[in-house]
Amino acid sequence: MAARPAVGDPLLPCPAGPHWAYAGAPACPHCAALVDGLVEEGWREHVTASFGDLPPDDERDVARMVADEPHRHDWRVFDAALDRLTCPGCGGRLGLGPLDCAPCEVAHGNRYAAIETDRPGVPPGNEHAVRVNVSVVRRPHLTSPQELLARRLLLPLLLVGELPSTADAQRFSTALKAAAARAGAPALAPDPSLLLADPALTALVAAGPYPHLFGPTPR
Ligand SMILES: [Zn+2]
Ligand SMILES: [Zn+2]
Ligand SMILES: [Zn+2]
Repeated sequence: MAARPAVGDPLLPCPAGPHWAYAGAPACPHCAALVDGLVEEGWREHVTASFGDLPPDDERDVARMVADEPHRHDWRVFDAALDRLTCPGCGGRLGLGPLDCAPCEVAHGNRYAAIETDRPGVPPGNEHAVRVNVSVVRRPHLTSPQELLARRLLLPLLLVGELPSTADAQRFSTALKAAAARAGAPALAPDPSLLLADPALTALVAAGPYPHLFGPTPR
């Protein structure tokens, strides 16, 4: 699995689709594997550093311990721990179940108690933004189609150390909502990427800090 992009790295096109690597998750299998890999990399480092090699059963015991102590672990270690646990409510991976699954809601809420450490050289809050966007992309059924689109497109930029200003983020969010309203929910649900052709949204992005937000090929 490829290592996480470093601060200042150039964006790389995804070999499997017309987007930057990481931005196609969860629908693009290549990007989905990259995003899962981010979380797994954190887990592997933690387990190796703390325990060395562990058989799968022992890893599950470690996962249970980590799940009880979000505040003592990096968010990637915490998310990977939940991935290894089965939810007693819905039977799925803990924390990824439907909104009405109580154990999943509790586990998901605990995600935000985990440690987020900004890498050197990034604007403060970059790691939190990475964490939130990864969480949304890995739990897509609980997000509106347009928010999922915005989160996944921004993820590659966050990973190389960018962070939109609050003003820019609000401008984008307002334009995105307007574009979503123009498109209408019935058209958006099956294909939110049709928003990438919205003239007003496209114009805003072209004039903003990240003109290549929508991908490697200009639209
Ligand atoms: Zn992709
Ligand atoms: Zn630990
Ligand atoms: Zn559940």
